[in-house]
Amino acid sequence: MNQNNIFQKLYRIICKDTGDRNESTKLIVVIRMLTLTMIVYSLINAFLFQRIGHTGGMIFCNLGMIAFLAIFIMSYRQHTFASYCVLNAAMLIWVTANVYMFGWGIGVQTYIFVLIVFCFFARYRHETAKIIYVLALLALRMHLYFHCQHATPYLVVADKVSAAFQTVNSIAIFWSLSLLSYYFSTDTQALEGKLIEYNEQLKRQASIDPLTGLNNRRSTMEYLEALLQNAQHQISVCLCDIDFFKKVNDTYGHNIGDVVLKKIAETFRTGLPQDCFVSRWGGEEFLLIFPEANGDEAVIALEALRQKIKATVFDGGSEQFSVSLTFGLVEYDFHSDITAVLKEADDKLYLGKESGRDRIVF
Ligand code: GH3
Ligand code: MG
Ligand code: MG
Repeated sequence: MNQNNIFQKLYRIICKDTGDRNESTKLIVVIRMLTLTMIVYSLINAFLFQRIGHTGGMIFCNLGMIAFLAIFIMSYRQHTFASYCVLNAAMLIWVTANVYMFGWGIGVQTYIFVLIVFCFFARYRHETAKIIYVLALLALRMHLYFHCQHATPYLVVADKVSAAFQTVNSIAIFWSLSLLSYYFSTDTQALEGKLIEYNEQLKRQASIDPLTGLNNRRSTMEYLEALLQNAQHQISVCLCDIDFFKKVNDTYGHNIGDVVLKKIAETFRTGLPQDCFVSRWGGEEFLLIFPEANGDEAVIALEALRQKIKATVFDGGSEQFSVSLTFGLVEYDFHSDITAVLKEADDKLYLGKESGRDRIVF
């Protein structure tokens, strides 16, 4: 087994789910990582004590190591909450005993801050209990500080040894805090990412017609209003409507009617100039906006489109058929409001229908 495999296997063991649907996998992973950190940390401390020839300290650290190992094993057998409480208790005992035995100078009391972060990030909703716990942690820290002011530690170590312990403690505390922050913040980051994506999806849904994928009436109104307000080029607006579409539905069925609508939408998208804003205005009516074209230029584009749609053959099951469109085109006069522009396009469309359909009225 190569080194990579060993790490992967260890990672899988640490990440093993609790199987309890009410418990978060993240919390149990953090408990295990923290417990493993404490095991390694107490082992290093035991090694340091052995180096300075202090059997008592070495035994103490080895006992700590065994206790953390027991909690690690416990995390696979008991509820997460039980492991969480026992780990907290064990760390409190560890900190208190260390300060009592070796004094304030080795810096182990800073571990209390890790417990505060641990307590607030764990997803248990006992807010009052959390506040009481944090106050108790503050009281403990103050007690330890004042205790160290007048009591001599059980083991007074040389400055060099104290610096070694201080270094080990600092590394362990920084590592534990980073671990907690990293693990719990990835949740928030992922959630934020999901929210942004969800928002964009909602925005898209609110502005797109689901059947044809074209802009809907709402987004078209927004676009047109802004365009007319800042009009700098000639703008043409065209309202068009499928001729005798009711007959298509009645003869070939609503589903075929939908196929026709989708195909026409696709022809609009591919057959009109790139900058043309295409929308489904409602039912079988479409609004086409040419933001930089005068009426004559728009007529050329629309004529090509009209012929293309007329030449499209649809399969109606029993027979093939085609449809035509009537277009009402308006060139913006730079002072009418949006309602007047739309009314004029509608009037022209009506004129086209009245005069025989399948034509562009400009
Ligand atoms: P005209 O040439 O005067 O426009 O005649 P028309 O039959 O096209 O007009 P009418 O307003 O009588 O009928 C429009 C039809 O469009 C009726 C309605 O069922 C159909 N329609 C509207 N929206 C949809 C849709 O989403 N899918 C389908 N299949 N049909 C639709
Ligand atoms: Mg129609
Ligand atoms: Mg209509």
